[in-house]
Amino acid sequence: MLRLDGVTFENGAFRLDCDLSIPAGRRIAVMGPSGAGKSTLVNGVAGFHEAVAGRISWQGTDITADPPGRRPVAMLFQDANLFPHLTVRQNAGLGVRPDLKLSQADWSRVDAALARVGLADLGARRPAELSGGQQSRAALARVLMQARPVLVLDEPFSALGPALKAEMLELVQTLVSETGATLLMVTHDPADARHIAEAVVLVAEGHAHAPVATAEIFEHPPEALRAYLGS
Ligand code: ADP
Repeated sequence: MLRLDGVTFENGAFRLDCDLSIPAGRRIAVMGPSGAGKSTLVNGVAGFHEAVAGRISWQGTDITADPPGRRPVAMLFQDANLFPHLTVRQNAGLGVRPDLKLSQADWSRVDAALARVGLADLGARRPAELSGGQQSRAALARVLMQARPVLVLDEPFSALGPALKAEMLELVQTLVSETGATLLMVTHDPADARHIAEAVVLVAEGHAHAPVATAEIFEHPPEALRAYLGS
């Protein structure tokens, strides 16, 4: 269980209060109006944005003060965030150890992860020699190597175009169900939420709300979501 107990994040004059729990293994879409604090929330969970109050815990352990590298959270960044001077294989290997001092067994796992995301033959390439979709796959392989129980995505794959984006979301969903990871995905697209998420965390008017089952929230959308969906 990922818990945010009386957590407050601040961004200048902006303030976001969060009181919610997400059971382990659940797939969650984070939705809400632009500027409502969705990125602030997921960055806060990943440890890139410090809470000014409250407690964040995972499986009962307080992680509020832990830096990102010590949290049980992997974050897939919007722009894939690959190192241009490293090969795809090395970029994926960074998920195991930032100094790339990997054992033979680790490198075998890296190769398996690359194969899993469809990059078996491209490990020796540098990111510039990959298409956008392939770069996203390489970033996913690195996240897989991190093997963290919580995966956070902030508007993922939005640069890829609809067909590739759908394909990548499908891959994420498959990987997440294989690993049993908890997924927290910011999206503005109700179709994505319906497709991938069991529940929706609505972020609006200074609050990150407790998750509501996806079918239910779209059937009876709260006012803030209704306004946002334009229905
Ligand atoms: P969302 O992801 O829902 O679009 P954000 O989490 O990015 O929202 O931003 C939430 C609020 O935080 C914004 O409405 C803005 O007021 C404030 N904010 C964001 N970035 C900064 C910043 N760099 N400095 C000051 N305030 C910021």
